[in-house]
Amino acid sequence: MYDRNNIFYKILHGEIPSKKVFENDVALAFYDINPVCKVHVLVICKRECRNLEEFVQGSSAEEVKAYFETLTKVAEDVLGLGRSGYRVLTNTGRDAGQEVEHFHMHILGGESLKGVL
Ligand code: 5GP
Repeated sequence: MYDRNNIFYKILHGEIPSKKVFENDVALAFYDINPVCKVHVLVICKRECRNLEEFVQGSSAEEVKAYFETLTKVAEDVLGLGRSGYRVLTNTGRDAGQEVEHFHMHILGGESLKGVL
């Protein structure tokens, strides 16, 4: 069950501030509070779902496409990482070390990511 008592729900609803990068109907992008590299941005979906599996299962094909289009737009156009390159990833569950149970993807870049997990 999705629990509204998570930090990203609060950011999404303006209860906690964030350094916003981009927002549209499907997603909100903001800087990670504890960056692991020069550019570390989180792209959270606006639907209430805990992880990638719930997001894909509970969304229409158009919603999934719109989310991933937003993800690439933020990485390529907003952050300008297209030329130098970047990594996207999502954590699901305990073994992945997922901290926040609201579906999001990380965009990492701005420097060489060799050695950055
Ligand atoms: P996860 O491990 O769930 O994939 O990643 C959660 C990410 O959220 C972590 O990289 C962590 O630094 C970030 N984070 C946790 N709390 C906050 C917060 O209050 N604000 C922001 N901007 N990022 C947060």
